Amino acid sequence: MCLNRRQVLVGSAAALAGSALAGSAMPASAVQASAVPEFAEGRSGVRMRWLGVAGWELTFAGRRVVIDPYLTRLPVFDQAGKFIENHPLRVRTDLVDRHLAEKPELVLVTHGHYDHMLEAPYLVQKHGSRVIGSETHRNLLLAQGVPKANVTLAGGGEHLDFHGFTVQVFRSLHSVFKDYSTFAPGTLTGVPQRPETISDLVEGGTLAYLVDVGGFSVLFLSGAANFVEREVAGLRPDVLVLAMSGHANVFDYTARALRATRPRVVVPSHHDDMVTQLDDPALPPRGNPAAAAELAETAKRLGLATRVLDPEVLRWYEF
Ligand SMILES: [Zn+2]
Repeated sequence: MCLNRRQVLVGSAAALAGSALAGSAMPASAVQASAVPEFAEGRSGVRMRWLGVAGWELTFAGRRVVIDPYLTRLPVFDQAGKFIENHPLRVRTDLVDRHLAEKPELVLVTHGHYDHMLEAPYLVQKHGSRVIGSETHRNLLLAQGVPKANVTLAGGGEHLDFHGFTVQVFRSLHSVFKDYSTFAPGTLTGVPQRPETISDLVEGGTLAYLVDVGGFSVLFLSGAANFVEREVAGLRPDVLVLAMSGHANVFDYTARALRATRPRVVVPSHHDDMVTQLDDPALPPRGNPAAAAELAETAKRLGLATRVLDPEVLRWYEF
């Protein structure tokens, strides 16, 4: 779990206000061009789309990888806007069936929280996909009926060959609240009772992934707005998918991420309100525009040529 829309805004606004160049930050309207950005109509053969929250789908050469799918968008805030910590787990299988109808070969899990791992058991059991996660994530998956054989354990440092593409796993970190705490921390060294509420899905460590398709690479620091700088320094991915949930207490977050990895394109992730349903006409086509604006401002301030793609939810892009 990360933060709600208001908290995302606060984090981004604070970062902008803290910048000497806040006044020259690119306005959201400039980032949100109405047409598909030229650089996102490329011919890499790698297509990707944002599934909302921190979910992503990647296809190339008939292969399919999904990361942190969360189409359900549980209504975890009450009328007063208070977070409901014991909200029951329930998957909107209609939405998963509609939008993720084809088998993903791989499901990558960045961490155990409900807004990242809720749908993994359903998806993996339905399609027989392979899922990658930490020991805790594995235990949470097994508790929900995922067969052992479908789970690949990772701790960071792995470079796995799927023959046609590779996946590197990196040790990463979860974002922190204002008081430097996180929601539902914890690790599980054994298989727990079947999780019933969102608090039962503990973080269990956070991972980052680099998917490389014949030299075209996408780095997913997408699950939580924090990372281990030394783990990813020098990677130079074509695309960096960067979590933009609240990061006011993570030192120099966007600048450190862009400077360490120098991507050609950066795409914000985890920057929507997390609760408006995908089939609700009120759902904005894009996430919080402050996220893309902050990334554009940071790239400009650092003198990087990195371009920002502010993605429309469920729209395919090819780089
Ligand atoms: Zn989380």
